[in-house]
Amino acid sequence: MAVASDIYSEKTDEQRAITEMVRQFAEEQIIPNAEHYDHEDLYPEPIVEQMKELGLFGVTIPEEYGGMGLDLTTYAMIVEELSRGWISISGVINTHFIGSYLLMRFGSDEQRRKYLPRMATGEIRAAFSLSEPELGSDVQAIKTSATKQADGSYEINGQKMWVTNGLMSSLVFVLVKTDPQAQPRHRGFTCFIVEKEAGAQENTGPYAGLKVPPKIKKMGYKGVESTELVFEGYRCPAENILGGEEQGLNRGFAQMMDALEVGRVNVAARGVGIAQRALELALRYAQERKSFGKPIAEHQAILFKLADMGTQVQAARLMTLRAARMKDAGERSDMEAGMAKLFASETGRFCVEECLRIHGGYGYSKEYEIERLYRDAPLLLIGEGTSEIQRMVIGRKLLERNRI
Ligand SMILES: Cc1cc2nc3c(=O)[nH]c(=O)nc-3n(C[C@H](O)[C@H](O)[C@H](O)COP(=O)(O)OP(=O)(O)OC[C@H]3O[C@@H](n4cnc5c(N)ncnc54)[C@H](O)[C@@H]3O)c2cc1C
Repeated sequence: MAVASDIYSEKTDEQRAITEMVRQFAEEQIIPNAEHYDHEDLYPEPIVEQMKELGLFGVTIPEEYGGMGLDLTTYAMIVEELSRGWISISGVINTHFIGSYLLMRFGSDEQRRKYLPRMATGEIRAAFSLSEPELGSDVQAIKTSATKQADGSYEINGQKMWVTNGLMSSLVFVLVKTDPQAQPRHRGFTCFIVEKEAGAQENTGPYAGLKVPPKIKKMGYKGVESTELVFEGYRCPAENILGGEEQGLNRGFAQMMDALEVGRVNVAARGVGIAQRALELALRYAQERKSFGKPIAEHQAILFKLADMGTQVQAARLMTLRAARMKDAGERSDMEAGMAKLFASETGRFCVEECLRIHGGYGYSKEYEIERLYRDAPLLLIGEGTSEIQRMVIGRKLLERNRI
């Protein structure tokens, strides 16, 4: 059962057409297969191949590079639909989207021409990497470093952690330290476009010095791999500094923070998608299951749960679309993106838990889809900044905008 999700979303005809297409794709290809790939923790290659055919890897890439040239708002609508199917599928394109955003916003003309056309088709896919074993929230504590060599290239050494699409990607946008003396510290980081062989655990030839250890075992968000990246003498040409050496050296921190802003809208859309699906499952089950002689939906306690879920889903969707529309309009939207990410990811967690409760014992069984959603949703509370970090961002922005 699919419940209409686009009430008052004010979609343009184009947005309506594309989201309906993606919803159909999710209904036919993602939802029926998610359980298998989740259970086996298997990369959903056939689904990814179909996403390439649908052009989903190039949604926001300009038409001149072979993409669809659509805005963040439309992208958020697409992500909601993919995530409603299975958040791991939106995970495959999320880091790719961030990589293409970084290139479009900060890349040199040469870098854009080199990578974007093949990224638009999904031939090469992108990951991004800030986190390390000892840090996630505290990005400025990054230890992985790059030092310039006599031949002009940079040697990267260090260990990265939690790289989504770390194995299957061909490009990783990696933030590393290039000036350990810089004060303030954030002026000493650079974003490198690290090329690698997709699917190789031990890179060789021009990519020697980069190892991808076996994927990290996770409670949910399966299928899409999260890996470490181990750099030991990896040589990166200076021209692979995002924006070029002259423009990009020691500018990586600000570039990544900008990308995280759109990344937060993207995570918010994923929260809306998973919450929407939990609501649908709860609505169906509550009408099917009977207790004390009537459908459980007729017990007020269950009815109120449904009401709270439906209300929060709508609020989360509106906040997400508002943050996206502000960004598309060129308005400052850092606080709005943080608010949307916080509220929508917490809504995802809330709705999966309420849905699980509504399913009673069956919610705990692998026979029911909610069991997967329950394991998947917590990721959204963590990735692209935890709820605690969002609150810090929002609180500071509120003060900044309302100084007395
Ligand atoms: C499945 C998965 C995929 C991921 N994919 C990627 C990826 O592709 N690329 C990437 O770079 N990273 C990725 N991450 C990493 C993710 O961004 C970090 O896990 C996240 O930023 C939190 O960092 P941490 O795990 O080091 O927690 P910590 O920073 O150690 O935080 C631990 C706890 O302390 C709280 N805390 C920390 N500092 C403060 C503070 N100042 N005030 C209040 N509370 C605080 C946090 O909110 C949290 O509750 C992924 C993580 C997961 C689980």
